[in-house]
Amino acid sequence: MKPETILAVILGISIISYLFDQLLDYINLKAQRKDLPAEVEGFYIKEKYQKSLDYQKDRTKFSFITAAFSFAISLAMLAFGGFGWLDSILRPFFSNEILLALVFFGVIMIASDILTIPFQWYSTFVIEEKYGFNKTTVKTFITDKLKGYVLGAFIGGALLSVLIYLTRTIGPEFWIWFGILAAVFTLFINMFYTTLILPLFNKLTPLTEGELKTSIETFSKKVNFPLDNVFVMDGSKRSAKANAFFSGIGKKKKIVLYDTLIKNHTTQELVAVLAHEVGHFKKKHIIWSYLISIFQIFFVLFILSKMVFNENLSIALGGSEQAIHLNLIAFGILFSPISGITSLLMSSLSRKNEFEADAYAKETYDGNALSIALKKLSVDSLSNLYPHPLYVFFHYSHPPLLQRLAALK
Ligand SMILES: [Zn+2]
Repeated sequence: MKPETILAVILGISIISYLFDQLLDYINLKAQRKDLPAEVEGFYIKEKYQKSLDYQKDRTKFSFITAAFSFAISLAMLAFGGFGWLDSILRPFFSNEILLALVFFGVIMIASDILTIPFQWYSTFVIEEKYGFNKTTVKTFITDKLKGYVLGAFIGGALLSVLIYLTRTIGPEFWIWFGILAAVFTLFINMFYTTLILPLFNKLTPLTEGELKTSIETFSKKVNFPLDNVFVMDGSKRSAKANAFFSGIGKKKKIVLYDTLIKNHTTQELVAVLAHEVGHFKKKHIIWSYLISIFQIFFVLFILSKMVFNENLSIALGGSEQAIHLNLIAFGILFSPISGITSLLMSSLSRKNEFEADAYAKETYDGNALSIALKKLSVDSLSNLYPHPLYVFFHYSHPPLLQRLAALK
């Protein structure tokens, strides 16, 4: 394909995907309803429900603005050869290709982050604040950013360096070796997320002895769940929203409960939420999603290996010669329709898994307690009770509340 054709395809994909996303957001906003469903009537007072509608309206309007801004900038960068221009400025300073690529992506990441900081700020300190969710202080906001930069530079930088090194030394077969490396890396992150990465951002304290801990241990024993430890995480440091999850592959499972979750739920409800999480493990969702993601990694890398050496991709982005970092950007956009389809399949699988985990919690523990917990979580996070089905199909990894409640009955 000629560079001009490639650029036209890249621009076409960017424009269509932007318009499509905005249309979905708009349809979803229009699907809002003023009436309160009978299932949650006792949990919502009328003002609070109105507040949840306002919250979604504010969030959607805000996302229209941020999306338009990002779209305008990336479209201009693509149409006017901005990426090639940046490459031509940096190239004379770096004879080493790996170093050049690291600086190239570093500049793009930092520039795009600086441009979007006002939006992130507004989202956290104005919108989330207005609805009582924000607990982040300015200090946490800034240190989170700095830690994110350091972590991104280390992990992203290391992976990118290895990728370029392999393309240079092995050639088109690099995808097999990099795939193996990425698979091991993903496994490593899965295993050590709670012990290595999470403590960088949050404080984890072992759950103190008491009724809750005993109930969790009793349940784990009953269903043969290899529980290693239960931690309480200071989620309240950033947001009033609540969550729970467990991590670890193999025999040692760590359960993490947000302090915000413990605060608002009874022991019965908390164990029901855990029973749901255990359901994901028992129904083999964790191992399957790992295997599928490994398969995806190899698939992406294989397609990448067919494109990464093509000089015309670099020229399409305004470059003067073949550069792997330019080709990676072009590939990212050209591949996005395919990755859109795979993520669609993954979300629909994930929604199916959520129903299964709910059913597991009902079978082994208490469906009613889980229903109450889900209602409370939904009310407290002001989540959308009537999302548009098309929006759910494309964006939801969890089924909407009313569907889950109906299935639990
Ligand atoms: Zn789940």
